[in-house]
Parts: sequence; structure tokens; C-alpha cells
Amino acid sequence: MARRRIIAGNWKMNKTPAEAVELCNTLKDLVKNDNVDVVYCVPAIDIVPVVEAVKGTNVKVGAENFYIEDKGAFTGEISAPMLKEAGVEYIIIGHSERRDIFGENDILINAKVKKAFASGLKPILCCGESLALRKAGTYKEWIARQIKWDLDGVTADQVKNLVIAYEPIWAIGTGETATSDQAEEVCKMIREIIGQMYDAATADAVRIQYGGSMNAGNAAELLSKDNIDGGLIGGASLKPDFGQIVNA
Ligand code: PEP
Repeated sequence: MARRRIIAGNWKMNKTPAEAVELCNTLKDLVKNDNVDVVYCVPAIDIVPVVEAVKGTNVKVGAENFYIEDKGAFTGEISAPMLKEAGVEYIIIGHSERRDIFGENDILINAKVKKAFASGLKPILCCGESLALRKAGTYKEWIARQIKWDLDGVTADQVKNLVIAYEPIWAIGTGETATSDQAEEVCKMIREIIGQMYDAATADAVRIQYGGSMNAGNAAELLSKDNIDGGLIGGASLKPDFGQIVNA
């Protein structure tokens, strides 16, 4: 099956609402490509202006975080119905910064994946190993465990609409990219795990991104690999370079 490429920007905690609109305008003509899903995952406060700024273009909007309840006494949180009504389609779940800085564990991440699907949001589920695990040679077991926990109770039909981002933590924001062979090795393994957990059709359908210092210079090589269907891009998503990644 030919999987549709998906290039998503993770803006993290960058860009005020006015700056966000400015970035959308800068990127507008650069990210045009009808053969690629282009997504901007933006800070919560930027969602409404960004949805407005990308109207009429090929760009979809994603959120960077949400909570699993629809409403109530959860100070500081934002819910799936709020995101949906604002025009959000994608949601990043399990990013290493949420796991490491905010203490999110696989039980919460699994609940978020299920809640996202139940709410009509498309999850971009992140996984990946630390430098210590890479050096210890146990990174494959670690990632396999993350995938199994995070997808517990998720159906095959849902996984067919899932995006998984393989993001080695040692390559995020460091300028150090995994080689295309290192990235392909893990993305292939993730697809095999999905095949074992579900079936061949599900493994064939699930889209797997690489993330970690992807930029205009290395994107084409990474994206040429059989099991890499796109990228989750941090730093380079805030620059005109993002257009070159979309069109790599
Ligand atoms: C990320 O945090 O999802 C990411 C891939 O960041 P960067 O591209 O800056 O390494």
C-alpha cells in the first residue's frame, strides 16, 4: 500500500499568537503540496488564530497536549471537545518532553490515545529511547514496550488511522540526527510490532514518522526509506526550511 506522507511541525512553546499568524503567512506558499499531509501542531493559545490563518490551504492544525476528561475541575488543562470545536485534527501524545519534564507515563499516554480516537482526534504517538538506552543496546526492547503499553485496548481500525513518531531522545533538538539506516531500523521494527499486535493490513496502513533534528538537508534521505512515512519536526518547523522538508 502506498502510504500518504505526513510532515508535522511541533512548534513546542514557541510563537505568540501574532507570531504564529506571521509564521503561517511566511510558510503559506512554501508548504503547498497536495500529495503530503502538512500539519502544524501549535501551542493551545495559537490554535484559534492558526486555524483562521491556514483556512483555504492544505495545512491541518494539531495540538501539542490535552487531558482525558471532557470538562471539570482540571486547572490548566484543555479537553478534546475544546480542541475539536476550535478546528484541531491532530494531537501529539507521548512526546518525550511530556514524558520527561511533566512525568507522563504510559498509562496516561494509553488513556490519551483512546480518548483522542473516541473524540475524533488523530493521535501522533511519540516513542523513542534515551542516549543511555541506545548505548546499552536495549533500545528496541524499550520502544517495543512503549508501543505495547500505549496501544493497549486500541483497535486495528484505529491503528490504521494512527501516526507513530519514532523520536530518539538523543536526536531531539541536539542537531544530532539518527542516520537514515538507524531510523529505518526502528521504524521497520515498529511496523513489525504492529503486525504482531494486529495484522498485516494494519501494519501496512499505520504511518510512521521519524523525528529528531530533521531539516532541509537530511529530510530527503530519511524520507526515502521504506518504513519512514514522514517527519515530526521541531526546530526546523519554525523556519522557511519547513517548506523544503514538505517538498523533499
Ligand atoms: C521534536 O521535538 O518533536 C523534534 C523532533 O524536535 P527537533 O526537530 O528540534 O529535534
